[in-house]
Formats: sequence, C-alpha cells, structure tokens
Amino acid sequence: MSDKPILEVRDLKMHFPVKEGILLRTNKFNKAVDGISLTIHRGETLGLVGESGCGKSTLGRCITRLYQPTSGSIYFEGQDITHLKGNALLPFRKDIQMIFQDPMESLNARHTVGDILEEPFIVQKIGDRISRKKQVLKLLDTVGLPARSTSRYPFEFSGGQRQRIGIARSIALNPKLVICDEPVSALDVSIQSQILNLLIDLQKEFNLSYLFIAHDLAVVKHISDRIAIMYLGKVVESAAGETIYRKPLHPYTRSLISAIPVPDPHRKVKRQVISGDVPSPIDPPSGCPFHPRCPQVMDRCKHEPPQLRSVADKHLVSCHLDL
Ligand code: SF4
Repeated sequence: MSDKPILEVRDLKMHFPVKEGILLRTNKFNKAVDGISLTIHRGETLGLVGESGCGKSTLGRCITRLYQPTSGSIYFEGQDITHLKGNALLPFRKDIQMIFQDPMESLNARHTVGDILEEPFIVQKIGDRISRKKQVLKLLDTVGLPARSTSRYPFEFSGGQRQRIGIARSIALNPKLVICDEPVSALDVSIQSQILNLLIDLQKEFNLSYLFIAHDLAVVKHISDRIAIMYLGKVVESAAGETIYRKPLHPYTRSLISAIPVPDPHRKVKRQVISGDVPSPIDPPSGCPFHPRCPQVMDRCKHEPPQLRSVADKHLVSCHLDL
C-alpha cells in the first residue's frame, strides 16, 4: 500500500435544503453528511458502517460526484475534484465507479447485458464495436457469468447474477476506486459470501481500492482493512478492522458489535441494546448526537459536541468518556 492516499475527503458536508410552507422556503437543512474526513489508500478497503439514514450512501454519492457537496473537499490522487464539472469530470468517472445495492434499479431493464456492459466503453469513446464485444465477453468471464449472457436481459437473472453484472459494469473501465454501496444487503446470505469473495478476488487482481458501505458490521468484517463507524452524518470511531472488533470504544460501536450473531450456542454474549431510532438529521440532538440513546450518557454530553480524537495509533473516537 502506498503512503499517499488515492482518496482524501476533508471536512465534507452535504446539507440538503428542506422546503417548507406554501412558499416552499428553505429554513432547515437535512445534514446528511456533516463534516466527514477520511482517506483510502491504493488496494485498501475502508468499511463504512452505520444504521439506515446515517448518511453513508450520501457520502458515497458525493465522492462519485453524483451529488455536489455543500462544502469540504474531495481529493483523488492528490487532485481536488470537488468542483469539477462536465468534461473535466469525465476521466474521474472512469477511475471512480460505484456498485449499487439493488442492481435491478441500476441496470437498464430494456437493454441486454451485452449493451449494458458495452455502454461504459461507448461513453468514454474506447475501441470499436468488435474490440468492445471482446471486452464484454472478458468482463463476463471475470465475474463468472457465461458468454451467452450477452443476449439476455437483467430480469432473466437471479439477484446474485444481477449483482455480478453490476460488478462487471463497475470494473469495465479499469477503475482505481470502487464505491460499494451495500452491494450484498439485498442478497440471500448464501449468495452474499460468493459476491464478497468475488470482490476480494477482483481487488487482488486489479489492485482496487474499495469504500465498502454496509449497515451490518458482520458483512464488512472479512473485506475491510479499516472500518469507520458513522452516526447521524459524522464518523464516531475509526480504526483497523481487527481493532474495531476486538476493542470497540465508542458506545455506539460497542452496541453494533454486541449485535453480531455468535455461531457458538454455548458462548454467552452480553448484548448492549440501544433504544430508539436514529434522530432526524434535520433536527439533530444538541451536544453529542448519540446522547439520547447512549447508555453511558453524562450531563456534559447533552450540550458539548465531542471531537473526533486519537486514542491510540490510527484509532479515532468521538466521545467524552475517558477512553
Ligand atoms: Fe455517550 Fe457521551 Fe460518549 Fe456521546 S459523548 S457517546 S453521549 S458518553
């Protein structure tokens, strides 16, 4: 892994205006991403975990520039891509790709798989028709699908096969970074491991970097080098994957870890159940955003926001507890 990150996100914010009243005035903002900084190195996987609605998918869409962030910066291979538009963004569209949770939604149902996989080459003006057809067959082989898939439509495939098509499309242009937005959440457990193994194999073969988004810590365990835990638009803890599982420090991370099922029926695990739902990012709680649900809340937590601080080597936590 090189010292220089392939991706660096600095204090990124994505605040969506909330229109209210007859005049549709904007008095409030949905602070979906609220000051996130992170790095990813070449060949590295950063797992990004949090409950639904915490802003992790929005962050992924900001990085791929499907959304224009409200503020902050995104550096790709050292170049600031935050405000690039149109043709200036085209080379980065090739280098940064995305795999979506529901391949059925992201694949055009009226196009054959051959057309779907050829499209990225056409958009980037790469090769002629014959060479593109060869590339499509190679892609299908890489993701473990038969050559005859080219003439079939997405609805003719199972969920796992459709995700393979989505993965094939994401790697078509030899990207350097792939944003995997809950790529296995919609799949049966038996298929999940096949897709995860495919992603791991592709990473080794093509030296890919992944931002792997999931709501379940168990899913990211085997694929992530480092893990960042997100809550209400902010990262509350980040560390090496092994450290997060062995020594979680933030009360929210601890509750997520304790919720992972243990395959040994004789091993008793003390669950740390957190009550309530994730508060609205439109009107987040004062102080520590986790305080209404935190089992270790103190008076200070209700009015003083904790800062993300280093508590050990490359282990950052945002909490007032003496860790
Ligand atoms: Fe809990 Fe306070 Fe730490 Fe927030 S700062 S996680 S409320 S102990």
